[in-house]
Order: sequence, then C-alpha cells, then structure tokens
Amino acid sequence: MAVAHSHPARLWTPLKNHDAQCRLCSHFCIVKPGARGKCGVRENRDGSLFTLVYGLPAAVNVDPVEKKPLYHFLPGTRTFSLGTMGCNMSCTFCQNASLSQPPRLGRGITGHLAAPADLVAAALDSGCKSISYTYSEPTIFFELVEDTARLAQAKGLRNILVTNGFMSPDCLDALGPSPAGLIQAANVDLKAFSEGFYQERCGARLAPVLANLKHMRRLGWWIEVTTLLIPGLNDAPAELADLAAFIGTELGPDTPWHLSRFHPDYKLTDRPVTPHETLIAARKAGQAAGLRYVYIGNASGPGFGDTLCPACQAVVLNREGFQAESAGLADGACKACGLGLPGIWS
Ligand code: SF4
Repeated sequence: MAVAHSHPARLWTPLKNHDAQCRLCSHFCIVKPGARGKCGVRENRDGSLFTLVYGLPAAVNVDPVEKKPLYHFLPGTRTFSLGTMGCNMSCTFCQNASLSQPPRLGRGITGHLAAPADLVAAALDSGCKSISYTYSEPTIFFELVEDTARLAQAKGLRNILVTNGFMSPDCLDALGPSPAGLIQAANVDLKAFSEGFYQERCGARLAPVLANLKHMRRLGWWIEVTTLLIPGLNDAPAELADLAAFIGTELGPDTPWHLSRFHPDYKLTDRPVTPHETLIAARKAGQAAGLRYVYIGNASGPGFGDTLCPACQAVVLNREGFQAESAGLADGACKACGLGLPGIWS
C-alpha cells in the first residue's frame, strides 16, 4: 500500500488571502491554506489546490456490469472497477464506509500506486469492455477519472460513473456529452426524495442531485437510478411516488430504476433489513408512475432482476444474481415481437 501524495487539482478558483474555492462538487468548499475540503482529499497548499488521491486507487476489481448496477448497458460484460478513498457525503448508512469516510475524519489516505495508463492496460488485459469509477464517490477523484477515461476511450473502452450525483455542473460539463465525451453511462443514487433526508443523513442536499440528473440526461449519458430503501426513513408511499414521478417526467419512463434492499451498516444499525413487501410495493409505485423497467436488487425473488418487453411481456433478459442471460434479445430488440429496447447493447 502507498500513502497519499499530491497532484495539481482541476476545477478550482484562487481567492484572496491564498484561499481556494473548489468547484468540483456542490459543496463548493472554500479551502484555507493548509486545510482540506469536506471530502478530505483536496488540500490547499500555499494558495493552490491539490488532490491527494490521483493515481492511488484503494479498490480495484473486475466486476459484472450488472453489479454497478447497469442492466441496459452491455449486459453480460465485465467492467474494470476502481475507486480511491474519500467521499463528499457522510451517509450514516454507507455500505463502503471504510473506503469513503476515513479522509473526512482526518485519517490516513492509502491505496495502490497506479497511473491512468496502468489502469487502462489492466482493463484491456482482463477482457473488460468498460471502466467503472465506483466504490467511493468518483467526483472526488475527478482528475484520475478524466485522465483514465480519455486513455480508455482511445482504446475503445466505455466509461461508467457510479455516483451520488452531487458533483458540480462544471464537473459534468468537463466530462462532456455522450458519445463523444468521456462518460457514456452512469448509475446515480437517488437516496430519497426529501431535503431533510439528504441534509440529516448524508451531509448534502437533494436539489443539486436532481439538477445533475437532468443535466446528465441533456448530455446524453445512459442513466440508471438506484434507491436504497431504508425502513421508516425513505420508504413512505407518497415519497416513493414523488421520486418515481420525477424519474418518469424528468428523465423519461425508459430510465431503469433499481430498488435496493437495505441491511444495517456503519452508523445505521437500528433499522431492519428492508422487507420484501416494501420492495414489491415500491416496484408497484414505479410502475404506477409509468416506469417501464423497475428492478429489485440485493434480494432474490421471482422476476426481481428480469427485463420484460413492455409490449409483449416476454422475458428478454433473465438475471440470476449478477449473471445476465439475454436469450430473448437480438440486436437490442425483443425476439418475440421485435420492439427495440432502450439501452446500449453493443
Ligand atoms: S470535491 Fe467537494 S467536498 Fe471536496 S473540496 Fe471540492 S467542493 Fe469540497
């Protein structure tokens, strides 16, 4: 393991008295000389901002793309997945807290030294079709994302963000429109549909996430949305109906919505695992809002992960765990009736 080293940061503005304003995420931290931003991985040194996690991934794996989860993007392929330490949120229910939270708490930043070219070479060697920036929050390792994605794209790999959606508009614009830009697909957490939840449970705000989802749609990224259903905190029927209506109206009814089962983790240990009935009721709320592709994850049940043709109801993609079987799909269309399905299939 290597420890944090510094690399010039991008997307920041110098201010008077050697302060620096970071423009990477919607916290827009003003960072004093010698201090770090809220994420704990961007530091002001003599009036200039540096990132402490460039070329320092702390988690690297080859995953099925279904694990991100992305269900309408190159199904059945593997994606080279990486993340550094750090996050710009402080969710009490974080399922990756040992990776995301230490820098915020002033603890050590560690990882494996790997330059963007090393990561792209490893992705190609492992037969992956894409690179996913994931595990923690890719916004806070933007410089590594940008440089790796550019090299990856030149080698014919696609790039995926798995994100909490709290970046800045400048960050999105720097990554650019699909397909010419650096990112082709994103799975975005929409953790709840209340400002109170985001402020009290995540140390962030809902409004920028909603604006960024619409911004990503304008950029032409393929978007899938995930909501972790936490009993008693974000699973009220009215809230889920509003959240589903937002997806349907602002992102479109073809946007997949993944409902994920909660299990107690990190600081949130006084809540039970999400009951199956809650997951099924939420799926019905999504369908009632007109969403055509609503999936249940982190749980097993009949048809929880299957993709049905909305026209003839044939199963076009069958999923067991993270394995996808696409016997009902041909060139992105339902084999039974010929309807084209939304997504990126090849
Ligand atoms: S990435 Fe966000 S949290 Fe980190 S320094 Fe920049 S504005 Fe602050």
